[in-house]
Amino acid sequence: MKDTETLPPKRIVIVGGVAGGATAAARARRVDSKAQITILEKGPLVSFANCGLPYHLGGEIAERKKLLVATPELFWSRFRVEVRCGHEVTSIDRAGSTVFGMDHATGTPFQMGYDRLILSTGSEPNSPSFWQEADNVRHLWTMDDLDDLLKVVKGRGVTRATVVGAGFVGLEVAEQLHRLSCQVTLIQQIEQILGPIDRPFARIVENHLKEKGIDLRLKTSVANLNVESGRVQSVELTDGTVLETDLVVVGAGVRPRTKLAVDCGLELGPCGGVRVNEFMQTSDAKVYAVGDMIEYTHGVLNESTLMPLAGPANRSGRIAGAHAASGKSDPMGPVMGTAIVRVFDLTVACTGLNQRSLQRKGIPFRSVIIQSPHHASYFPGAQSLHLMLHYAPSDGRILGAQCVGGDGVDKRIDVVATAMRFDGTVRQLAQLDLCYAPPFGSAKDPIHMAAFVACNDLDREPELAAVDLDCQALQVLDVRTSKERVEIPLENSISIPIDELMDRWDELDPGRETIVVCHSGKRAHIAACWLQGHGFGRVRNLTGGMSIRSLLSNVAGHSVAGS
Ligand code: FAD
Repeated sequence: MKDTETLPPKRIVIVGGVAGGATAAARARRVDSKAQITILEKGPLVSFANCGLPYHLGGEIAERKKLLVATPELFWSRFRVEVRCGHEVTSIDRAGSTVFGMDHATGTPFQMGYDRLILSTGSEPNSPSFWQEADNVRHLWTMDDLDDLLKVVKGRGVTRATVVGAGFVGLEVAEQLHRLSCQVTLIQQIEQILGPIDRPFARIVENHLKEKGIDLRLKTSVANLNVESGRVQSVELTDGTVLETDLVVVGAGVRPRTKLAVDCGLELGPCGGVRVNEFMQTSDAKVYAVGDMIEYTHGVLNESTLMPLAGPANRSGRIAGAHAASGKSDPMGPVMGTAIVRVFDLTVACTGLNQRSLQRKGIPFRSVIIQSPHHASYFPGAQSLHLMLHYAPSDGRILGAQCVGGDGVDKRIDVVATAMRFDGTVRQLAQLDLCYAPPFGSAKDPIHMAAFVACNDLDREPELAAVDLDCQALQVLDVRTSKERVEIPLENSISIPIDELMDRWDELDPGRETIVVCHSGKRAHIAACWLQGHGFGRVRNLTGGMSIRSLLSNVAGHSVAGS
């Protein structure tokens, strides 16, 4: 048997040198100091910060070089990892353990043998059917895209910009173009921005975008780009509107880049990403795949899912790097779809499943929405946040959460995501021992408040009603003040302000099923407890209250039907 000292170093070849690939290389080196590690990257750069691209577009990250997290020189001097940029891998011979490709700098083909191969080829942006090649029609996915976009923005001057797609990247781009004093039109095919966010919270962000002067067009898409002399002059929407524009940025989702993997016969999963095991090994144990190109296991559904996010890409890269180098590593855990975006002065974040996904999957759930200051209300600078939890009616297992507000949104969603990783329930959330001092939180943190309300709901003390409940045929008690009722009217409801309720029971019918409503749900909870205590039949508190219900019809200040 050969002594390990005399074995030739293991050849680890990595295809794609940004999030997953660069992480895999650095980890492999830490685990195996002798391995021969090579990154083949088709682009001109490795390890750049894709997530920072929108922020350099608008100048918030002032220096381009700040986006270059590591260089080939650093990889060599610190890690002895050879980085070959401009080297595109075009095919893989698994039987011969060899990759083939093209060196774009010299125009010469190359080939390289491997003992272990790690694929991290990422995803590619969708180009919808209206897409046309033109100077001023762009994606923002790579540094080259950014440089091209900057040329358009700075070269010719852009005053009117159209962003197609109101997902995370589309919103970041819209904000940054606005920062450059562009008049921005944001076009979204479906009826709300940000698909993973539930409608009422998406509405909060939509209203904020409009306040900031973004021309938001929902439920419409691009029918045609009118191109003259190689430049788009105007955009024709499916609703017939024609918008003159100097720039079109398309952020219409991404798909896993799997051609290399498919061509060499690696198995795909049901969502079209490469199928991997918990150590990121593909159907060929010598070939690993990580990042946007693979399917992860969803923590709530226990099903395969695509998840084009940087966190999972980096974690999967780390696992593949270690396993490829040493044959062992911790396994990859499930993903929850935990994501966050800043939209001007608001932050919105989510984890787990939203209402639509839960309904589509037929998973029973209940929901709570609370409104709370992000730290003690008496401490200067408290900002209001809305937090929503979805949980299982049977055992209170947390199924998803969303938060929108200013400061402190990230912390709340990360706490919930952590609890979900350990199959946490709302009862356990209520028990969390979280840090507190007035500048940071409240003795009863918004997390606790949401969990308390959810526990009350599970214990029917009293139950919550969904914010979009059809209240027809129910007795609706509105405990807000008359001033609040003028601001957001509620038709077909009985108005008894909370402070008068003790003296006016007799205006209500205890035999009728009752929904109690206030602005955010807090006063309604107190009233609903009293009604229950007075022997009323089924009494429920409308979760989120009128502040959220009014968003559903998007008519704040207009009448909202209570029945
Ligand atoms: P990438 O990092 O995309 O790397 C893939 C690399 O493979 C590319 O450099 C490509 O050139 C190379 N490659 C492809 N094919 C070949 C080949 N045949 N030969 C050689 N090289 C090849 N995620 C978040 O979680 N939060 C954010 O805020 C966020 N913001 C984003 C903003 C933007 C503008 C973009 C573009 C992405 C953002 N993401 C964000 C997503 C995140 O960047 C990706 O999920 C992550 O980079 C995926 O890592 P990856 O290694 O799979 O792919």
